[in-house]
Amino acid sequence: MKAIFQQTKEQRKRLFNNYALLAFITVLFLLLVVGCSSSSQSETETAQESSKQPIMVQGPMPIEAEKFAERLKDVEKEKSGTFVFYKGTVNGYPVIVAKTGKGMENTAAATAVAIEKYDPIAIINQGTSGGHDPDLHVFDIVLGKRTVNIGSLKTEQRGENEGIDATEWKPMDLMASEGSAGEDPDAENIRYYKGDKDLLQAANAVKDKYKKGKVVEGTIGSADVWNNEVDRIKWFHEKYGTSVEEMEGAAAAQIAKAYDVPFLGIRILSNNKVNGDEYNPDTAAANQEYVYEVVEKYISTLPSE
Ligand code: SAH
Repeated sequence: MKAIFQQTKEQRKRLFNNYALLAFITVLFLLLVVGCSSSSQSETETAQESSKQPIMVQGPMPIEAEKFAERLKDVEKEKSGTFVFYKGTVNGYPVIVAKTGKGMENTAAATAVAIEKYDPIAIINQGTSGGHDPDLHVFDIVLGKRTVNIGSLKTEQRGENEGIDATEWKPMDLMASEGSAGEDPDAENIRYYKGDKDLLQAANAVKDKYKKGKVVEGTIGSADVWNNEVDRIKWFHEKYGTSVEEMEGAAAAQIAKAYDVPFLGIRILSNNKVNGDEYNPDTAAANQEYVYEVVEKYISTLPSE
């Protein structure tokens, strides 16, 4: 009887030990599962889940956006109207490449939509451009210390049959007041949008890495116009101090300013009517390579948390 009792006691003890071991293994297993899932969560943390504000890189045409987009990690494509946003990361930091389409209206709208949707920490508008400065050649790059709208103009007063003289046209600052820009003499000023100093600093810091031409600071002029009249180009160069012209930068700069988002235009010359340099579409890819370096540099200057 006693033997039987002892045996049962021993059995119970063994059973208890087995349960304890099972509980221990279960806890270990659970810890392992929780650990794994949380680490895989941080590994797959995508641009939109990140608490960090993304950097936005804009390009108008496919050749001016897709090369950069191809270099993003963990890319997710999102569309809004005709605007395409490639959301990914560079060195683990969220970066969104926006294919805006050409021209001022597309760019302004794509910029506003992007600011509302993604709350970017900074915006770089980049792509090709035509030279206004005879010292700049195809593959040279202009960092927009200033960006200016060269399509916002007011003509002189002239009656019927008194002709047209574009050299008399005056700049019209649409941001001068909420009153009539046609009547307000204060609106007859050139409105320059300043390039953000931290973005400029990052761009200057990596300019030696660019080997296909020189990188200079200058003034980017934008309008929904392609100027091929050398005298008109010279007029802008002298009156506005333009280094290059394109069709987007000032629209993005104006909206970035409206929302107080740091902005920089970075434009490569794809053509220069003033010194006869012919259009070369390969410049679009070269600019994106340089802008990638700028973005990496800018990321390295941001606080890690
Ligand atoms: N060159 C091509 C298409 C360019 S369309 C063609 O002729 O078919 C215009 C785009 O090129 C715009 O996004 C604009 O920003 C840029 N661009 C390059 N050079 C320009 C120039 N000289 N004047 C205006 N825009 C220019």
